Amino acid sequence: MSATATADRSQDTPRSQADHEVVIVGTGFSGLGAAIKLKEAGIEDFVLFDKADSVAGTWRENTYPGCACDVPSHMYSFSFEQNPNWSEMYAPQQEIRDYLERTTDKYGVRPHLRLGVKAVSATWDEAEGLWRCVGEGKDGRIETTARFVISGIGGLHVPAKPHLQGLEGFEGPVFHSAEWDHSVDLTGKKVAVIGTGASAIQFVPEIAGKVGQLDLYQRTAPWVLPKADRHISRAERRLYRRFPALQRAYRRGIYLFLELFVYRVITGRRLGKLFEKAGLKNLERGVKNPEKRRKLTPDYELGCKRILMSNIYYPALDRPSSDVVTDPIAEVGARSITTADGTTRDADVIIYGTGFNTQAMASSVEITGQDGRLLANHWHDTGIQAHRGTMISGFPNLFFLLGPNTGLGHNSVVFMVECQIRLVVQAITEARCREASVTPTRQAQDSYNSKMQADLGDAVWSRGCKSWYLDAQGRNITLWPRETFHFYESTRRIDPAEYEWATAEGAAPTADDHRELLEVA
Ligand SMILES: Cc1cc2nc3c(=O)[nH]c(=O)nc-3n(C[C@H](O)[C@H](O)[C@H](O)COP(=O)(O)OP(=O)(O)OC[C@H]3O[C@@H](n4cnc5c(N)ncnc54)[C@H](O)[C@@H]3O)c2cc1C
Repeated sequence: MSATATADRSQDTPRSQADHEVVIVGTGFSGLGAAIKLKEAGIEDFVLFDKADSVAGTWRENTYPGCACDVPSHMYSFSFEQNPNWSEMYAPQQEIRDYLERTTDKYGVRPHLRLGVKAVSATWDEAEGLWRCVGEGKDGRIETTARFVISGIGGLHVPAKPHLQGLEGFEGPVFHSAEWDHSVDLTGKKVAVIGTGASAIQFVPEIAGKVGQLDLYQRTAPWVLPKADRHISRAERRLYRRFPALQRAYRRGIYLFLELFVYRVITGRRLGKLFEKAGLKNLERGVKNPEKRRKLTPDYELGCKRILMSNIYYPALDRPSSDVVTDPIAEVGARSITTADGTTRDADVIIYGTGFNTQAMASSVEITGQDGRLLANHWHDTGIQAHRGTMISGFPNLFFLLGPNTGLGHNSVVFMVECQIRLVVQAITEARCREASVTPTRQAQDSYNSKMQADLGDAVWSRGCKSWYLDAQGRNITLWPRETFHFYESTRRIDPAEYEWATAEGAAPTADDHRELLEVA
């Protein structure tokens, strides 16, 4: 983008009016949080598109038995909307969904919703300084324009399904944990569960007691630590309602515990070993069968993949009607699965617990930035990366919530989303003051990402084990590499010098402008 200095923005050629100031895609924690904070900043001209017919994202879609958060609910919620009524330390799916529905109403977001609309593409119109967005709804194609686009499409959203030879000939039901088919009665059935992701750890114990036979096809044995779960009594909930400061203090305690303690487990080797001992003790307690215990013993360093927590997963697999299969699947038959060692096991139902395609963010909406550059191609060349996990050089006025390297293995991502939203609202406010578009400079983005990859240095993910946190080149593109208060610091206050601010004439404000406009913002 060309930029020549000018101090007099009143001489700029006015750009044409967009239909909306902001389009938000997605209505999970990210989209709803962004909407609430835009309203708070006095920006009311925005719409939220979601391909589904209701809000809540992850917590609308995942309805499998036993679905719950795995970060304590008092932390896994908005800081500005704490809920004194969580019934469990780790709230079940429906409670989190209800919480997000209530929050939508309480903060007046509902009139802005455009549900049942899938965002298909967004193209930057350089001359007009706006995004041309295309969606598909029940009534056909929808076209709209917006000055700013905020993507809250979620990183764990598109189910990952392995390609299994012969699957098309399987005669029974097949579904993914995120698309649970509640019409299938599993009672007495022979059920093949494929994969041991975080969702499988939750639904396996729920179904193990009712199915006739459960075969768990496992590629990697996860680390499963004991879960400090508990019911939150009515009296305790009353206390939080009466004394909100108490709940805030409790939340802070959980945050610090997860942050300072568990994080060190991931980066430091000694504490990690202590936790590995706890995981092995959990396994010993839960599984008496020595052969199963052997198969369920992880063979990689704790923390390299997501650390899971459950007190009921191992006992569920120790049942005589449960088996753990570690030979790779060779072929699926009409009512069976054959593994590479030649063993064939009967199966009435196949359930995938194989997690999500975390790289779908790059391609699920076709995004075209400056000079007609497709984001998917751009990221193919540069690797998936963004400035402060949120903005991408060459893609003005576009913001990704839970973008590259903002995921966490140890604390609530809602914290990260809130940090990003703070940065996004500042960027939008300032760009509006300048009547300019905003994009990070290539230099700022490169230097941010080099530093981050250096910070990842010796952390457990970089010590040779394969996980969905890494791309094909072995770069961690998913996780924030340090304590989250560093991300808070990194996003707290926008530094205008890290961005290009381009007006209709392609003009960038001077240093004096920067100072003046920061004061306005
Ligand atoms: C089972 C499960 C449990 C989890 N537990 C935890 C936990 O305990 N702690 C934690 O920190 N994280 C957890 N996570 C991660 C979780 O995804 C995030 O915490 C959070 O819910 C992400 O919110 P989001 O709004 O960014 O994305 P989502 O909740 O995934 O919402 C994305 C929304 O975008 C919509 N969308 C996507 N593409 C389009 C499109 N093209 N057009 C229109 N709409 C679109 C979707 O329909 C969806 O509503 C869990 C994830 C899963 C799957």
